[in-house]
Amino acid sequence: MPAFQTTPGMRDVLPPESARWRRFVDVYAEVVEGAGYGQVIPPLMEDIKVFARVGDATDVVTKEMYDFVDKGDRHVALRPEQTASVCRAFVQHRPATPWKVWYAGPNFRYEKPQRGRYRQFDQVGVEVLGANDPYLDVEVIALGWDFYRRLGLRQVTLLVNSLGEPDDRARYVEALRAHFTANLDALSADSRTTLTKNPLRVLDSKRRDDADLIAAAPRIRSFYSDTAAAHFETVVAGLGALDIPFTLDPTLVRGLDYYRRTTFEYQGGTLDSAQNALGGGGRYDGLVEALGGPATPGIGFALGLDRTLIACDDERVFAVGDTGVETFVVDTTGGLEALTITRELREAGITCDRAYENRSMKSQMKGADRSGARVAIIVGTDELERGVVTVRPLRGADEQSAVARTDLIDSVRKALS
Ligand code: AMP
Repeated sequence: MPAFQTTPGMRDVLPPESARWRRFVDVYAEVVEGAGYGQVIPPLMEDIKVFARVGDATDVVTKEMYDFVDKGDRHVALRPEQTASVCRAFVQHRPATPWKVWYAGPNFRYEKPQRGRYRQFDQVGVEVLGANDPYLDVEVIALGWDFYRRLGLRQVTLLVNSLGEPDDRARYVEALRAHFTANLDALSADSRTTLTKNPLRVLDSKRRDDADLIAAAPRIRSFYSDTAAAHFETVVAGLGALDIPFTLDPTLVRGLDYYRRTTFEYQGGTLDSAQNALGGGGRYDGLVEALGGPATPGIGFALGLDRTLIACDDERVFAVGDTGVETFVVDTTGGLEALTITRELREAGITCDRAYENRSMKSQMKGADRSGARVAIIVGTDELERGVVTVRPLRGADEQSAVARTDLIDSVRKALS
């Protein structure tokens, strides 16, 4: 074993898999930028209080943060998610509303590593600050949906719920507390602890012993005020108008105190049910205020890269494309020809690689093979003396030909076409 390895939950992403990661973000950027969202790149690290504002009823904030005191005595944390950073940026820079932004990048959570769960993991997301329109909820939900479709996924399901207005939600929480407290004996030990912190989160329990009690729990629907009910009806009708299939799931809650009204989650059809959430989001109010800004409604989602790529593997879509170069230069005359020819090709927009250390023809041709190139450009002493290069197609039945050095670019273009 080498002396140094990545620490638990951390990974190196190597080629060609790294190309897939980048393409994932490229596809995502195309979808959201096509809808008028601009990219925001928040720092990886913030004052820990920025994240603490997200609420203390969640493990992400209470147990899993990578935090430390820096050399200037500031208590900082690596971001465990990006919504709080985006809201902090909104308060700091006061952009015009609605502020429609997207992000992509790593987050850090000190979790127990397992398949699809790491301590550094990437998410892509959107946030819209400053608009309360229910059709915006539909737009945001549809963007996530369309992104999965664009990747080629066909077995994603969408769950939708509404948590009502803050007052509705508060009354509902009390009803849940009463329901679970009256049946404490039937509740798992973990859920009893959750109950003391946030009764809503008990609905998140995937434990079989809790299932009956959760099924018998009061439903949020009967707590909706007229405005909450109207907002949700419009969202549901909007999804219908876009032909986006979804399931109403009254137990879908976002644990954070700031979430209200619309919540949603995308699940991977091929993934194990305990880990099948590909991403999710919802409406939140109050977060911008908690960070020192004016009352501002917000909505957004965060989609995990890892589980989405696992789902892609399961559905055999979004495979790593051919990331190799188009051409490969073989030079057995010392390497100066390879040096100048690769430069010429690259300047002409033709991708190319080469061999080094003046190896034998056979060894260099092996390199050409490995590179995935379709055309080799070969220079030996004979070619050098005659002022030509040999252009050799590496796939297909075409013959190689000697072409004048001055015709290099045109000949290579022809061989590639
Ligand atoms: P959350 O921010 O917790 O709502 O998570 C949104 C999505 O991010 C989840 O559905 C996962 O796909 C992904 N995710 C969350 N935590 C992790 C993690 N530790 N490792 C990998 N993916 C994660």
